[in-house]
Amino acid sequence: MRPDTPADHTAEAERLLRTAEQYPEDREPLLLQAAAHLELAGDHARATGLYDRLIAAGPENPHLIKALQAANLWEYGHEAEARAIIDGVRAAGPSDAAPWEIVAETLEAHDELDAAHDTFTTAVTRLVDPDEEIPYATQSLLNGRHRVRRLLALPHDSWDSLADRLHTAAVPLDELHDPKRLWSLGSSDPTELRAEIARLRTELGTYRAALSRPFPVAVLHWTTRELTELLAAYPSLSTEYPTHEAHLTAIESALRDLASTGTGNLGIVTGTVPSYEAFAASEATSPSDPDLLPQYATTLAARGKAVPWPPAKGAPCWCGSGTAYRDCHGEGRA
Ligand SMILES: [Zn+2]
Ligand SMILES: [Zn+2]
Repeated sequence: MRPDTPADHTAEAERLLRTAEQYPEDREPLLLQAAAHLELAGDHARATGLYDRLIAAGPENPHLIKALQAANLWEYGHEAEARAIIDGVRAAGPSDAAPWEIVAETLEAHDELDAAHDTFTTAVTRLVDPDEEIPYATQSLLNGRHRVRRLLALPHDSWDSLADRLHTAAVPLDELHDPKRLWSLGSSDPTELRAEIARLRTELGTYRAALSRPFPVAVLHWTTRELTELLAAYPSLSTEYPTHEAHLTAIESALRDLASTGTGNLGIVTGTVPSYEAFAASEATSPSDPDLLPQYATTLAARGKAVPWPPAKGAPCWCGSGTAYRDCHGEGRA
């Protein structure tokens, strides 16, 4: 379940802030995600407070937090301050994709298309090697640049072609980023309108994913030993987990489904019975409640515990078998 109303986002932020008190060592990812929810709730002032706290604490990833702070400040009218922070991040030239993307998207959101284009171009030139495997975060930079170039009516270049090749979701990038699509909203043809709504949904999904970045959508995994212990203590959960093998198969197929609907940044979190019990206690409910399982997964992901899925080329399978992913749960995957 993903929160949707402002009240849901405020409640989720409160939950993450409580979790941050419990796990001070995971404070940075938790506060960052709480701030993202506060922004989604429209509470920019409180989000600013959280970003300031994080920056003052000497964070692991200062550029990312500054970029998020700039996006948030500009959103609620502090343009000059936001621009100063953005100039600082661009000058610092971070080596990871997320701060670049947030800065470029902030400029784009405020119609500074040329500056957004320059930022995306600098970032892909620095971070993308077309001969190497392109991770999700850098692929987002190529997509963002592709979108801004359509808005500027620029012809395709080799980075654009790469973006098109890498994009595997149902709606092709060229259609998704077609500036003319806005006009068809006034159409009275129901087929056209339905297609338009599908397109906008895809885009909204991307936008949401961007706001919750860099936190993966994570699926919960139990090792054989932990699952045995879990089911012994809470037998009612066997409806969720008939066998360990079925559990592993379900994880892989859930992740493939998410990937095929265009959800990027996927991950797997591995649970333990004591930490799950502690989580249930902090939520004041029983560990037997199956609704708690996805919430537990989200919280582990928010604490930075997710392992990215799919595994890198040639890496062992996520299930712990020791076999290469492509010969194990990755079999048959393109
Ligand atoms: Zn294209
Ligand atoms: Zn496996």
